[in-house]
Amino acid sequence: MMEPSGREHESPLSAPRQHFYQARALTEPLEERIPATRGELAAMVDELHARGRPALVVGDGQHLRHDLGGAVALRTERLDQLLNLSRENGLVSAQAGIRWRDLQDAVEAEGLTLSHYALMPSTATLGGLLARFRPGPKTLGQGAIRDGCVALAARGAPGRSYDYLVAPRKASGPDLRYLFIGGEGHHGVITEATLVARRQLDAELLIFEGLPLSEALTLLDAIYRAQIRWQWVYYSAGAKRLQLALGAPGQLLRTQVRWIEAHLRAPDAHLDLDALRARRRWLEDRHPARRTHARARQASAIWCTAAALQTPPLDLSTPDIDELTLTSFAPDRVELVVEHGAPLDVPMPGVIARWPLCQTLPPRSRVPFAPEAADARR
Ligand SMILES: Cc1cc2nc3c(=O)[nH]c(=O)nc-3n(C[C@H](O)[C@H](O)[C@H](O)COP(=O)(O)OP(=O)(O)OC[C@H]3O[C@@H](n4cnc5c(N)ncnc54)[C@H](O)[C@@H]3O)c2cc1C
Repeated sequence: MMEPSGREHESPLSAPRQHFYQARALTEPLEERIPATRGELAAMVDELHARGRPALVVGDGQHLRHDLGGAVALRTERLDQLLNLSRENGLVSAQAGIRWRDLQDAVEAEGLTLSHYALMPSTATLGGLLARFRPGPKTLGQGAIRDGCVALAARGAPGRSYDYLVAPRKASGPDLRYLFIGGEGHHGVITEATLVARRQLDAELLIFEGLPLSEALTLLDAIYRAQIRWQWVYYSAGAKRLQLALGAPGQLLRTQVRWIEAHLRAPDAHLDLDALRARRRWLEDRHPARRTHARARQASAIWCTAAALQTPPLDLSTPDIDELTLTSFAPDRVELVVEHGAPLDVPMPGVIARWPLCQTLPPRSRVPFAPEAADARR
């Protein structure tokens, strides 16, 4: 091995911290700040703003789209406390840096569940899941975490804190939660959030084997149009396997399953609640839409209408496509990750957005948390 010449670029970060960025194909930031309290974070935001230093908020870094080069990474990983859990009201409040898996475990320990939300990467942070950009129309009842966020706190420009209370939620004025939800940290840092948690209902995982993508889409469409709403869905074109988690009070659940069997197709396997939970954990640990996914550099996330996948078909018969994984379905919006050996160059009328997982856009703003954008004081 060659001796270092002494002229190499000296990173200010430790090796594990450098690895964090390398594993996500991200440029290393100039500096990292890792606040442990809301007060520390507020002081850092104020200071960065006063000095006009470019900064980017970083949760688990799975969905960072803007270049970190020359910026300060404001990491939320130490803001990871569960703040409140109310069984009566079905609400859970936590700091923004808590991991999705840790939040689910804490909620389940209290007899509630977050299983009505779609599959999400287990290491993703609550703040990152809320703040990430998500294209396309809002689709109610499809497990979007942003639809379940009833309150949040954020820190914007100097001295500007935003607190949307759990109760009373709003007496007057605009609802500014959506300045921060989907805002990619541009208007400030989400520091805390409250989600709807539910009591665990009876649940069953239906597994359909041997389905090519077109048949899986037809089946999902028929179930959707019968007004049956699943907790989560996962389809792999490579395995030709569709997994559908249904949750409902016992009698209703049995009726839904019987209706699907009688009118559409009998599942090849049924898994009970414990097996369903274990399957969810397994899939979330391997969620395909992550910058650290093994094949992230050859993968794109696509949001499109269901019809867009049919004409011309985008499936494993399309040249250079190795795998398609679907994680959300409604006729007007399907979310999938496509692994492709060559640049994905298929015409797709009906596509809402198409991004490489390891996309890097130019820095978004030189001045973080601009005051005019963060005019959110209550
Ligand atoms: C192209 C692509 C598509 C994806 N699609 C899906 C999908 O459809 N479904 C799904 O479940 N997952 C999807 N993911 C993964 C998912 O988006 C991430 O796991 C999730 O955004 C959050 O995890 P994170 O903690 O890694 O956030 P990060 O990647 O760290 O942050 C995401 C964004 O939010 C900002 N941010 C982070 N924390 C805060 C905060 N506290 N306050 C304000 N802003 C903050 C960041 O600056 C960044 O812009 C996708 C990922 C990629 C790359």
